[in-house]
Amino acid sequence: AKSRGYSDLCFFEEDMDVHVRERHRVEQELLAALDEGRLQAFYQPLVELKSRQIRGFEALARWNHPFLEDLSPDRFIPIAEESGLIGRLTDQLLEQACTDVAGWPGDVVLAFNVSPTLLHDSEFPTRVLAILARSGLPSWRLELEITESAMVKDLKAAQECLGLLRAAGVKIALDDFGTGYSSLYHLRNFKVDRLKIDRSFIESMSTDKDSAAIVRALVGLGAGLGLEVTAEGVETGEQARLLEEQGCAQVQGFLFSEAVSSHEASQLVFSRWAK
Ligand code: C2E
Ligand code: CA
Ligand code: CA
Ligand code: CA
Repeated sequence: AKSRGYSDLCFFEEDMDVHVRERHRVEQELLAALDEGRLQAFYQPLVELKSRQIRGFEALARWNHPFLEDLSPDRFIPIAEESGLIGRLTDQLLEQACTDVAGWPGDVVLAFNVSPTLLHDSEFPTRVLAILARSGLPSWRLELEITESAMVKDLKAAQECLGLLRAAGVKIALDDFGTGYSSLYHLRNFKVDRLKIDRSFIESMSTDKDSAAIVRALVGLGAGLGLEVTAEGVETGEQARLLEEQGCAQVQGFLFSEAVSSHEASQLVFSRWAK
């Protein structure tokens, strides 16, 4: 047992080392990609359930790297956050996305994810407003998606940041709603415009009574508070049917479309109909 413990430890240290080097490499590659403007905003339709019309798009970061594999945002966004590159990444993608959406019909909105760390950056609101001005996108057509973790670290700073943006007309959505440990607490402290019900509840709602009841309650909560509600991760017709029955107005998910390139999104938007 003793020798086994020793070799386990060696493997563990080797793994750590590989992990650290791999991370460092992604960080270097990310820096280069930002310098060369190689990250792209893709767009997933936000669909009005009743009419099946596209109301807007959520921008999702895509990084097509020639040899690093599996660079999904779930992997590179945390690295960008920890290495201090998230500000640049966000500025670049937001500028791309605002410029794209400004060229689409005037009622199409842009939903854009904001990392918690940026809400503690006192210059962030000014940068967002400058990007809006440059792109020509009216502030009310931008909806920033934030998660609760933004509020946990420095509530006051986050409140101030979001207050400035909201005062300028930008909308705020609470993303992954229902997964945090203090969702309801934050609803009282933050003025938001929309709740996005987390995919995990939608996933199990047709098979699990409790999930279905939670979704129903969240839709009702949104209505009671006068907020818009979007259900994320809708993959089946059955889920869409249940959501419609429960009065959920907007959905997003693979049933309608995954995130597509700017070119494909503009084709979708001019025909206006999700399938
Ligand atoms: P999120 O904000 O919750 O975005 C929704 C994720 O669910 C996206 O994954 C989307 O492709 C995926 N999705 C949409 N519909 C379905 C569905 O029907 N089924 C399933 N299984 N998945 C669906 P993606 O693009 O890989 O992004 C993952 C996360 O990375 C996002 O989660 C967001 O937290 C973060 N992210 C992406 N782009 C950005 C960005 O530009 N800035 C920041 N700060 N974070 C971003
Ligand atoms: Ca989101
Ligand atoms: Ca989400
Ligand atoms: Ca998420």
